Formats: sequence, structure tokens, C-alpha cells
Amino acid sequence: MSEFDLIRTYFADLTPQRADVALGIGDDAALVSIPPGQQVAVSVDTLVSGVHFLPSVSPRALGHKALAVNLSDLAAMGAEPAWVTLAMTLPTADSTWLAEFAAGFSALAARYKVALIGGDTTRGPLSLSLQVQGLVPEGEALRRAGARAGDGIYVTGSLGDAALCLKLMQASAESERIDQALRTRLERPQPRVAAGMGLRGLASSAIDISDGLLADLGHILEASGVGASLELARLPLSDTYAEWMAQGGDWSPALTGGDDYELCFTASGELGTRIESLAAQLDLPISRIGRIEDETGLRVIRPDGGVWSGSDAGFDHFADGDGTDDRGA
Ligand code: ADP
Ligand code: MG
Repeated sequence: MSEFDLIRTYFADLTPQRADVALGIGDDAALVSIPPGQQVAVSVDTLVSGVHFLPSVSPRALGHKALAVNLSDLAAMGAEPAWVTLAMTLPTADSTWLAEFAAGFSALAARYKVALIGGDTTRGPLSLSLQVQGLVPEGEALRRAGARAGDGIYVTGSLGDAALCLKLMQASAESERIDQALRTRLERPQPRVAAGMGLRGLASSAIDISDGLLADLGHILEASGVGASLELARLPLSDTYAEWMAQGGDWSPALTGGDDYELCFTASGELGTRIESLAAQLDLPISRIGRIEDETGLRVIRPDGGVWSGSDAGFDHFADGDGTDDRGA
């Protein structure tokens, strides 16, 4: 058996069995059965070492994150994760590295009952490409288009933690002293799958925040042909982020940082109480941060009522790129 045969064998029983997988790993293609009345949501994402993750990241965290960012795209569509394929390019077949990667990957796959049904293994600079498929009742998928003037704009969880963590890690020689909760937000994002599914029939549009709130909300506005105003005072920030703000930090990680993997969605004003009950039911904060308007463009209002122009300290440095731009999930 070649090294790569070993990998295949190793990955063969990694994830939960699903009754809808008629043929899994081992043949030229997998076969899956699609329940009547459902559509398949399909998404692919590539993670390249040094571009989308730090080469020093633990393989277990990487296994988690590679799957998490893909599940986040399914969440944004309101789809229920079902199957995944994994194309790995590896410099070497290091069994310790693979065991750790597999552990991170399989723990998250088990949680969402996602079956690994195939993949590809090649040698080269470390890069991972995952394609995920999920199920959504016909016509119920959440799209970027659909936001209407008067809709509220909402986000799940808190914003900017992952980008703040990366910023602190790059600025500090003592990055191991960074708050563990913040590090978890960067290395182990939680795909908002239950929220996405719960938003079927409620959200008028949705997207997952991978490139920063402003950029991703911008995609909703463009696809929907509308504009918006955002109130910075309403942005959900973690305690750690708020503390950093109080000590002279700024809005940029929360607005333009990226890697949040929270959902941003819009919903008509009269659905406010249903969204509150969804948040309570999921035990996940959902904050209304602004409203959709007819006038195109995005108006960002500071807590003092002025217009945020993007000129906070740190913003330009961040926007110029730090080698981790275009995370792209
Ligand atoms: P082929 O040459 O026909 O593409 P491969 O030798 O690449 O076949 O793969 C053999 C089987 O192992 C296929 O079912 C494929 O989906 C699976 N496989 C290969 N690499 C991986 C991987 N990294 N993760 C999961 N399944 C894999
Ligand atoms: Mg192949």
C-alpha cells in the first residue's frame, strides 16, 4: 500500500454513516440519494497554507476549520449539511499530522452528521479543497437577493473576534498570552447551521460573514438592488473586543476583518419577535444592527451620530492586507 492508499483507508471510516449514501469512499464516484421535494445546495472552498491559515496552526484546528468554513456556506443558504468531499494536497504523508487533522475534521462532521463520501489526495504544497452538499426543501433556500427597504439587518453571535485575534498574534511576540476565547474564535469557528435552518421562511436574504461585515453585507445590497444604514452602537462585540475598544481599539476588525463565520441576514420588520424567539431557542445572540433602505450605498453611523468614514486608526493597515485576505468562504 502506498502512503496515499493509507490515507484513503484512514479517512474511509472517519465520519457518520448516512442512509442516503448508497456508495461512499472507494469507487470512482460516490452515489447519494436525494429525498423528494429537496434541493441540493453545493459549495466548494479551498484553504491554502500561508494564505488562508497560518502554517503554524495545529492540524486538529485546521481539520475543524476546513470543514467549518464550508458548513458556514451551507448555513447561509439555510441548508442542512449532508455530504462532503475532501481534496488534499500534502507535502508529505505525516501520520501524526493526519491523525490530528482527522480528529478535528471528524468531531465536527459527527456533530452535523456529515458523511465524507470521497476525495482526492495529491502531493504538493499544503492545500485543502472541500466540497459540501446540503439539503433544503425546494424553494426555501436563503439567497443574497431578496432584501427590501424597511427590512431589519441582523447578525448572529459577535463580530471581529477572529480578526482581532489575528491582529494581536501578528503584533505580539507573546501571542500565546492571547485570550483563549479569542483564539477559539479564530481557530474553531462554529458554523451557524441551526440558525440558517431556523431562518427558512423568515429571512428575506442571508450571507455568511467571511470577508468582513461591510463586504458581505455589501453583497446582499448589490444582489438585492438596495442600500442600508448601519448603527455601530448596535454591533455585537465580545467582552474581549469591547475591552480592546475601551483601550484605544477601533471598529475595523468587526467591520472589515473577516473570518467571523456569523450569519448576516435581513427580515421584514414584523418578524422581529419571531427572530427573538429563534435566538432564545438556539441560545445564540441575534442582533438587529441596521435597516435596508431604497437609497443605494451603505451608511455607517457612529455611536455619536456621525458618519463612519473608515478612517479609524488601524483601518488602512488592515485593508491593505496582511497576507490573509480573500479568505473567501
Ligand atoms: P481515482 O483515481 O479513480 O480518482 P483515487 O485513487 O483518487 O481514485 O481515490 C480512490 C477512492 O478514495 C475514491 O473513492 C476517492 O473518492 C477516495 N479518496 C481519495 N482521497 C481521499 C481523501 N483525501 N478523502 C476521502 N476520500 C478520498
Ligand atoms: Mg482521484
